[in-house]
Amino acid sequence: MAKVLPVMLLAGADDNVHSDVERIFGGEYSIFSANNEQDCFNLLEQNDVQTMIVALNNPEMDGFHFLEIIAQDERYKKIPVLAIINQGDSEGGERAMKLGAAEFVTSPVNETTIRYRLGNIIARAENEKHIIEKAEKDKQIDAMNRYIEVDSLTGLYNRETFYKRAAALLKANSEVPYYIVYLDISAFKVINDLFHTETGNLILKTAANYFKNICNPQVAVSGRIEADHFVLCLPQDILNIDRLIKEIDNIMRSLRISQNILFFAGVYPVIDVNLPVDQMCDRARMALNKIKGNYITRYAYYDASMRERLLRDQMIVRDMEYALKDNQFTIFLQPIYRPETNSIVSAEALVRWFHPESGMISPGFFIPVFEGNGFIVKLDRFVWESVCKFLRARLNAGKKIVPVSVNVSRLNFYSFDLLIFLLNLIKKYDLEPWMLKLEVTESAYIDNPKQLISIINQFKESGFPVLMDDFGAGYSSFNMLKDIQIDVLKVDMAFVREIEHSERARTILQMIVALAQELKMGIVTEGVETKTQLDYITNMGFVDIQGYYFSKPLPVKEFNELMDKYE
Ligand code: C2E
Ligand code: CA
Ligand code: CA
Repeated sequence: MAKVLPVMLLAGADDNVHSDVERIFGGEYSIFSANNEQDCFNLLEQNDVQTMIVALNNPEMDGFHFLEIIAQDERYKKIPVLAIINQGDSEGGERAMKLGAAEFVTSPVNETTIRYRLGNIIARAENEKHIIEKAEKDKQIDAMNRYIEVDSLTGLYNRETFYKRAAALLKANSEVPYYIVYLDISAFKVINDLFHTETGNLILKTAANYFKNICNPQVAVSGRIEADHFVLCLPQDILNIDRLIKEIDNIMRSLRISQNILFFAGVYPVIDVNLPVDQMCDRARMALNKIKGNYITRYAYYDASMRERLLRDQMIVRDMEYALKDNQFTIFLQPIYRPETNSIVSAEALVRWFHPESGMISPGFFIPVFEGNGFIVKLDRFVWESVCKFLRARLNAGKKIVPVSVNVSRLNFYSFDLLIFLLNLIKKYDLEPWMLKLEVTESAYIDNPKQLISIINQFKESGFPVLMDDFGAGYSSFNMLKDIQIDVLKVDMAFVREIEHSERARTILQMIVALAQELKMGIVTEGVETKTQLDYITNMGFVDIQGYYFSKPLPVKEFNELMDKYE
């Protein structure tokens, strides 16, 4: 039986090209040739054309026009096309490629070249076909997977099925209170890296078995959401979470794996049955995230405040840029008193956000968010400038001023122009550096001690006083003190709170006061609220006082009035 040859369409060839192509490919292809567009289309329609050679050097047929039409025809545009142009007509070659030809050769045709080029474009076309076929296949597999309901490794329901089953269960038992439990193994990745994959799989299968056992299919359902994340949906009176953790601990221990396998759980009590199950799982997971990395607490319940916090943080990020432009941020000033002289010796600028809808938002809420997304650098600079304006206004009015301290959040130390910015401010408002005191916390020191030491030395050379904020609240305060010449220590509020009840706290504070004196540093205690606290502190030595006992942070206008009164 004669071999069936693939079909080639030769379009617009003159006699020379025609005979060349016949000579070269005659034994490998059934070659159909035509010299006008209509005939070419008839041939395409009647035959399963595998490849096309289009001659562009024949005045009898406009091959470029033919290429253009082919490229727009869904039926034929995938057929690989080789163009033939006259020698020296590089422009024609370029145009042919733009119109969809995959390659071109020049006439008279060189056999080696045309074979090579045609081979190339056919291989390319086949490759493309494979890619398309593979994508099609993947799509089918995906669709099939959606029909498969269980996870092949553990036999638990997969994510989609779990959502579906749990929703049905909750709907059928709407009067029964339910929990969604989200479970996760700590550092499972490490376990997988440390041991064989089989060990990881064994852990997952063993855990899945346990979950399946405690979930009676009549009333409960379990699933594996991804990797080492499991979910359970079960009636509240069935779940004893302490027991669950204990039992799974025992089971994991029985596997005798040298690494501790610890499960952590977030629990969402189903309050709103109409909430989609995936969102219930998100909430349970939110609760879980709260205790992640904490080895003492192994589970946590979701409470509404978590969601509120999330929403609030989202609002803060959404509104911050506009708020700054819209002047929603302002500074308050909290006076710092010196009991010996009964005078105001300084003040701290504290930012406030007056949100048009939410009212006043406390910095305790937005500062951590801004420290997370970098906006704090902009806000701090705004605060510093506001302080400079305030000082300039008092000086212009011929009034006495005290130096004002500002907070310099740690992210500022990554700005190359931090010092330049501060110096420019001082120049712009015609102030002197001692009027602006810089409060730094040890977190900046922990990030990058060397860099901080160098910048702080530059601050001091430029004449800015440097304060160490929240002294004693962290771990490395003493290290920082050892390395950096600090002007003033601000003792953390937590200490002051303790001194009324704790002899030890008093002793430690007494030592800090002595230390400050020894190192010729000033000292401020924050958060002094009562007369008792004040008396304890003033008995320890020369200590300046910042706290509600004397004054809360005040709006600039009120602070001015207070200053005038004390003057
Ligand atoms: P901080 O720098 O330690 O500021 C002292 C905080 O203690 C202020 O809270 C102040 O209002 C409060 N406080 C003062 N005296 C008392 C008292 O007697 N009792 C109590 N309970 N609190 C007192 P505030 O204004 O809410 O600021 C909280 C924190 O937010 C600040 O702690 C600081 O870390 C940050 N912050 C505030 N303004 C700025 C700012 O402009 N930039 C940066 N980076 N952080 C700021
Ligand atoms: Ca501060
Ligand atoms: Ca502080």
